[in-house]
Amino acid sequence: MRIILLGPPGSGKGTQAQLLVQRYGIVQLSTGEMLRAAVAAGTPVGLKAKEIMASGGLVPDDVVVGIISDRIDQPDAKKGFILDGFPRTVPQAEALDELLKHKHLKLDGVIELRVNESALLNRVETRVAQMRERGEEVRLDDTPEVLTKRLASYRSQTEPLIHYYSERRKLSTVDGMMAIDEVTRAIHRLLLALGAVEPKTHTKGPTKSAAKSVVKAAPAKPGAKKASKKAKTAKKAGKGAKKPTKSAKKAAKKMSKKAVKKAAKKAVKAAAKKGAKKAPKKVTKKRAKR
Ligand code: AMP
Repeated sequence: MRIILLGPPGSGKGTQAQLLVQRYGIVQLSTGEMLRAAVAAGTPVGLKAKEIMASGGLVPDDVVVGIISDRIDQPDAKKGFILDGFPRTVPQAEALDELLKHKHLKLDGVIELRVNESALLNRVETRVAQMRERGEEVRLDDTPEVLTKRLASYRSQTEPLIHYYSERRKLSTVDGMMAIDEVTRAIHRLLLALGAVEPKTHTKGPTKSAAKSVVKAAPAKPGAKKASKKAKTAKKAGKGAKKPTKSAKKAAKKMSKKAVKKAAKKAVKAAAKKGAKKAPKKVTKKRAKR
């Protein structure tokens, strides 16, 4: 899954991104977080960004595009990612399109969290109070003055992205004023509709529908069905079916997993010899194993 969360500061992008990370095991790529880390570490990028961030302005496009491009190449981003706080300008969005094309990656969609601006100041104040309570360091740019500036730069530079992505049929909008878990549910429904996630992703191993789609994707060559049927029978025999095949009988006798596997393989081979010259081995073997 590769998505963008779009919304003004305080719209809940970070919160929702973290929930998605927990649920789907993908990574959150927040340019804000990366820049704050760079500032803390005193890297050249950090030194460049420090003042701009403290005043609520935007760090130059080439800097953030470079950071994101490198980050997407990291192994932990292979499974998918949520972009949080990037892109923030049309040139950044264009650069992202280019770099994804170059890396042969597809963006599933852009989810806009739409919020009532008057609620944002309140939300950020609550966030600051909670961070103080937990003894965490409060962001320098989480003050009413800087927030006003950040909102202004969102309106002038980031809001045009709504048009950019809706023109490209990538945009979906969620009401960000709902309770956190309702927003999460709405995002999940969108991800399902986009085909970015499979139903019941919390179950371990391939889901039923995932397995089905694998089988469907395999070409239905004549004989493949037979092969798969025989393999199935062999497996059944291992569990004590009434009319087992020869090879399956063997498996049933030993009652060991290994033997069932072996018998299933044999059945596949035998059936394939008869008529399924190009039987989709992977599928039939998989089925046999199940
Ligand atoms: P955030 O944590 O997303 O609110 O970002 C905090 C600050 O980092 C912003 O106010 C900007 O100064 C800077 N920043 C984060 N992401 C970007 C970006 N994509 N483009 C330019 N500046 C950014």
